[in-house]
Amino acid sequence: MQKVKLPQQIDPVKSAVKRSDYVGVIATKDLSRFTEAVSSCSDVVDVTVKFAKDAQGLTFFHGNMATDTTLICQRCNGELAHRLDIEFCFSPVQRAEDAELDELPEVYEPVEVNEYGEIDLFQLLEDELILALPIVPLHAEEQCPVKQNDLSFGQIAEEETRKNPFAVLKELKRDQE
Ligand SMILES: [Zn+2]
Repeated sequence: MQKVKLPQQIDPVKSAVKRSDYVGVIATKDLSRFTEAVSSCSDVVDVTVKFAKDAQGLTFFHGNMATDTTLICQRCNGELAHRLDIEFCFSPVQRAEDAELDELPEVYEPVEVNEYGEIDLFQLLEDELILALPIVPLHAEEQCPVKQNDLSFGQIAEEETRKNPFAVLKELKRDQE
């Protein structure tokens, strides 16, 4: 099945009126900030997105996206497969600071439209992908070649804090004598 390329610029209000539905892909080569944040990743991000109006007449669009990445484990420096699977739900607003924001139901994440009423779908979804990455990627402990006990550096730090209070006491004693 041929996967459609998603449009980058899109007018969410017009798309909601048309009840647009997209099942497609974004090429990761178009997401340079994301590709820089990972060691490697799939050629595409699979995206489904639906534009609609809710019972209150608010425009929203929701869907999910998924892609596979390889990250670097911060414990052993080895590669680590990490799948991203993200649900999203946005509502377009004129300006993020606007009062209408207070009235926006919490399920909707506000997204600012530009002067033409459009959003940059790639940039928006790229931000979500980057935010979903773990801050400190680590293998599950049983899969990591470096075991917790091998980290001598952690042990030294522990010993030092253990010794410190006594060292301070010794200093005090010496001062008193
Ligand atoms: Zn590891």
